[in-house]
Amino acid sequence: MPVKNKAVFLDRDGVLNREMGDYVCHLEDFHVLDNFSALKTLQDRGYLLIVATNQGGLAKGWYTEDELAKMHHRLKEDYHAHGIAFTDIFYCPHHPDFTGDCDCRKPKPGLLLQGIEKYNIDPAKSYFIGDRERDVEAGTAAGVKGILINSNQPIGEVLDLIE
Ligand SMILES: [Zn+2]
Repeated sequence: MPVKNKAVFLDRDGVLNREMGDYVCHLEDFHVLDNFSALKTLQDRGYLLIVATNQGGLAKGWYTEDELAKMHHRLKEDYHAHGIAFTDIFYCPHHPDFTGDCDCRKPKPGLLLQGIEKYNIDPAKSYFIGDRERDVEAGTAAGVKGILINSNQPIGEVLDLIE
């Protein structure tokens, strides 16, 4: 049987870029955090790096898919300059007040399940680093070990929790 991949899933705001209140709506408010060394370490240990983020601001009309794509381009570029490649970025564009319930908005596990399916990932060997309880809940529901950090805390401080 082919060996499955392992992954570290990452929340976006407060983990990869600076948390700025409810949503980061504009490129000029998108400030990438310096987690380069920590993510390079995880990548070198063989983990796929996959982003999983709620983007309910899309459903609210606070920003467009186009603006979101620009922010994610910035995210990928800044990390790529440090030798880090994100395998994918999964986001939930829904919000219950505007688009009704969905399967992907965290704490639902849909975003993680998409990644697990698409990249043949073994959830038991994988992690989800987030700055909210709902991230840990989504991880648990997907069979992935959740690691809670404080917003904007360096990921390096939790590297010991990852095998
Ligand atoms: Zn959704």
